[in-house]
Order: sequence, then structure tokens, then C-alpha cells
Amino acid sequence: MSRKFTDKTLLIATHNAGKLDEMRNLLAPFGVSVVGAAEMKLSEPEETESTFTGNARIKAVAAVKATGLPALSDDSGIEVDALGGAPGVYTADWAETPNGRDFMMAMTKTHDQLEAVNAAHPRTARFCSTLVLAWPDGHDEVFEGTVSGSLVWPVRGALGHGYDPMFMPDGHDITFAEMDFAAKNTISHRANAFAKLVKGCFER
Ligand code: IMP
Repeated sequence: MSRKFTDKTLLIATHNAGKLDEMRNLLAPFGVSVVGAAEMKLSEPEETESTFTGNARIKAVAAVKATGLPALSDDSGIEVDALGGAPGVYTADWAETPNGRDFMMAMTKTHDQLEAVNAAHPRTARFCSTLVLAWPDGHDEVFEGTVSGSLVWPVRGALGHGYDPMFMPDGHDITFAEMDFAAKNTISHRANAFAKLVKGCFER
């Protein structure tokens, strides 16, 4: 059984305003007041682990240590089967340039590598999201969500972010970047992990 969250305030260890809003809405029904990492002027720790759980834990524990508040973090990425699970935890790194992140470049690199190994179609992949809720006494709870699909080329759609234009979830014939926000949010890896978090730690 997961530990229930009984505090008044939860720190969300993200600098991403979209993620923060999503969490705030999700937790509103449970009377939890949510603060973001930027508000608390937290710095972003280096993600040195090789798993989503390891990196999410680094972010949550650093936030707890800096503030004394319980903290929730998330780490996510896309795993491509024909590439042995790459880019995986390195999804954001594949997009790094000296001038910020370029996901068109990262998606092109992914496509080029699939072509180089002559990968069969459909080119299956999954988005993964891991949430870690950490308390000041050192306890934490971990929740993982995934959504399976396949990669398309050329990319399609202008909505969403990251690898969305390349990813077509199973059971759909449009990419995440062609799907409206609400529809994506009912089936996404993050929605899936959030549902487990709410059931485990917030529902009475
Ligand atoms: P991090 O969780 O901040 O380390 O970043 C993981 C990276 O995975 C993000 O920068 C995105 O590029 C990618 N990613 C995670 N979730 C999604 C999604 O829902 N759509 C598209 N890309 C995603």
C-alpha cells in the first residue's frame, strides 16, 4: 500500500509551467496547495542516473532537501524498440543544441538511425513517464505510466511538444501532434502515471 499524502502543501519539482498547471488542476480536488520549483527559486539538479526512476528521484530529493517540503517530480522520454530503447532517458539530450532544444533535429536523428538499421514497420515505440513523490523523512513512492504506439515519417501535426509529431498512439490514425490537448491527456503516459499517483497517495 502506498503512503497517503496528508500535508497541506506539495512542491512540484519542475520548471515547466505546463506540467505545473496540469498537476495543480489534478490535485485541486484533494485540497492540496501546489507550489512550483521556479517560485521557490530552486536550481535544476544534474540528471546523472540511467533510468527514469533514478532521475525523477534525483529531482524530487533535491527539492525536498532545499525546502523541507514534500516534493513531486517527473521524468519522461520515448523508447524506440528497434533502437534498443533509445533515446529513452536521453530524449531531451538528443534535442540539445547550443541555442536550446531542437526536437525536429532529434526526430530526424531517430528516423536516420531507424533507416540505418533498416528497421521493420511499424516502428514501435512508447512514451514513458515516471513520477516520484518524496517526503522529508526519506520515504518515496514511485508511479510509472506508458503509452504504446509507432513512429511515422514524415512527421505530422503542429500541436503538443517534443516527439509528439512523430508518435502515433496505438488504436489511432493521428499523431499526438494532430490530437487536441484534452484527447492526448486522457491517454498519455503522464495521464496514466498521474492516475496511479492519485489512486495511491491522494484518494481516501
Ligand atoms: P524530461 O522529463 O524533462 O527529462 O524530458 C523528457 C523529454 O521527453 C521531453 O523533453 C520531451 O521531449 C520528451 N517527452 C516527454 N513526454 C512527451 C510527450 O508527451 N510528448 C512529446 N515528447 C515528450
